[in-house]
Amino acid sequence: MSRLKGKRIVITAAAAGIGRASALACADEGARVHAVDIDEEGLARLCESNDALIPHKVDLLCAADVRAFASRLGPVDVLFNCAGFVHNGTILDCEDDDWAFAFNLNVTSMFVLIKALLPGMIGQGRGNIINMSSVAGVSTAARSRFAYSASKAAVVGMTKSIASDFVTQGIRCNAVSPGTVDTPSLQDRLNAFPDPKQARREFEDRQPMGRLGRAEEVAALIVYLASDESAYTTGQVHVIDGGWSNG
Ligand code: NAD
Repeated sequence: MSRLKGKRIVITAAAAGIGRASALACADEGARVHAVDIDEEGLARLCESNDALIPHKVDLLCAADVRAFASRLGPVDVLFNCAGFVHNGTILDCEDDDWAFAFNLNVTSMFVLIKALLPGMIGQGRGNIINMSSVAGVSTAARSRFAYSASKAAVVGMTKSIASDFVTQGIRCNAVSPGTVDTPSLQDRLNAFPDPKQARREFEDRQPMGRLGRAEEVAALIVYLASDESAYTTGQVHVIDGGWSNG
């Protein structure tokens, strides 16, 4: 299909998980995808499958590198800010460094990249920003996810503010809030439990559908939001959680 034909799309955290699935899905739909990640080998594996995928090794925690990347690229049509990190624990477990890291990667890296790419979008009279949030801290509470929940709620505030400020200039900005999705980083977190298989069963049992989400299911939502089919939605939080936050 070609729902994204002619669109230039930037996707961060594209080497793994939801970002990778979204990069592949957007390329399949005809987009030219600029895949950003710190993992050079993962990017190489991703981009060997399709000429429409272009790798960019960038550390999103380095604002100067992010700005340099954006200025090399020029105007794009869609930015999907996917990168984020999950810290476990309550406020009492959260050290200053954990808090700073959560906000630096989950929020500030988005702020820097959006600010760098938005003028080009405004200049061409159209642009579309999709920011990765989470149901945790936004649609429901998740235990022991203090810094993560706070940072993902900040993503929603940033999204709504940008959507409101630039709606008359052809810019859309939405957030995506998944529930628990089966990705390599989730598996890493499960592996940290004494019994990873039991931990997986417990994650699955708290899901109303009895299963975790798939990265490809979130990618399908990203394709929709990146396409002109979603032209009338902006400033919204698009929840995809198998009914978790529905109680
Ligand atoms: P992941 O954690 O499996 O992959 C993250 C990717 O980000 C990796 O390829 C990694 O190399 C890259 N990355 C990390 N730090 C980077 C940096 N400084 N610069 C550039 N790249 C960097 O991804 P995932 O589990 O698919 O999660 C992606 C996003 O979705 C995150 O924002 C996460 O919070 C959010 N999310 C995930 C889930 C879930 O259950 N997996 C649920 C809700 C929201």
